[in-house]
Amino acid sequence: MKTILDVKNLSVSFDVYGGEVQAVRDVSFQMYEGEAIAIVGESGSGKSVTAQTIMRLIQTPPGKIRSGQIFLDQQDLLSLSEKEMQKVRGNKIGMIFQDPMTSLNPTMTVGKQIMEGLKQHQKLNGKAARARAIELLKMVGIPNPESRISQYPHQFSGGMRQRVMIAIALACSPSLLIADEPTTALDVTIQAQILNLMKDLQKKLKTSIILITHDLGIVADICDRVFVMYAGQIVETGTKREIFRNPQHPYTKGLLKSLPRLDQDKKEPLIPIFGSPPDLIQPPQGCGFCSRCDEAMRICETVPPEQTVISETQSVRCWLQHPYAKQSGSPGSQEA
Ligand code: SF4
Ligand code: MG
Repeated sequence: MKTILDVKNLSVSFDVYGGEVQAVRDVSFQMYEGEAIAIVGESGSGKSVTAQTIMRLIQTPPGKIRSGQIFLDQQDLLSLSEKEMQKVRGNKIGMIFQDPMTSLNPTMTVGKQIMEGLKQHQKLNGKAARARAIELLKMVGIPNPESRISQYPHQFSGGMRQRVMIAIALACSPSLLIADEPTTALDVTIQAQILNLMKDLQKKLKTSIILITHDLGIVADICDRVFVMYAGQIVETGTKREIFRNPQHPYTKGLLKSLPRLDQDKKEPLIPIFGSPPDLIQPPQGCGFCSRCDEAMRICETVPPEQTVISETQSVRCWLQHPYAKQSGSPGSQEA
């Protein structure tokens, strides 16, 4: 499998009144060609900041990339000039955001907005760009694309606008598509349609997808692997099956318990995760989840959990899964 994206030891912070928020803390992961991954976590977990840093859309200042490297197809994105990066955006990476209304230009026809990228990046002339735009609208399931192409965003429903955004994101056949909460603003039926569309397109075009979401429930259908983020760190990684069937981190388990299950007759009560994430101006010394974890031990307060490998594809940052804990029943005693 060819690695398409390699994020190494990425740390990103933001200067705010009162200090520096450490939004992303030493995040590393790899992604393979044609793979769909989900980055799951609650708001403030660092998932969007990670995606925006890959796109180099972080405003600096107040943002600061403290350390790390991001390789897309062997090219180190963090070393590119803004001009070089503009070519990468649009050409190699497409992005879909939560609210298509704010990312589309309300004063421009959707056709013009799709054609912009085609003219700029693919050097197509007006006629060819128009033909390709119609083809793209058809591909994302917009009926009557020949006439819809001359309409404005407000003439489209929310779901249709998100289809237009997908068409724009895919216009230049990017190798990577980043979708940040792409369906959060849509109602449930439309959500499913958009996710199915993304899945179909991913299969057809072999585009790699990063789906960013707070909702573990929507990843099951479309993603191969899941990365769970908490307090700026990846706390668990696994295949979709491992994460759903054999979660190891108490936070992942909590996310699953707070999900409605449609596939079980016996309805178990939904359990929300109590408490709130830690202040990332002064991140906790030990495990970031400590203040909310029912299973916290003494060591958790002071020593950040190391990564423990569960399988070839699954790993977790939790002292409970550490070999010490398995041996002694209490990794705290090893520390004392
Ligand atoms: Fe809970 Fe400790 Fe595991 Fe953190 S390391 S999730 S506090 S058991
Ligand atoms: Mg976000």
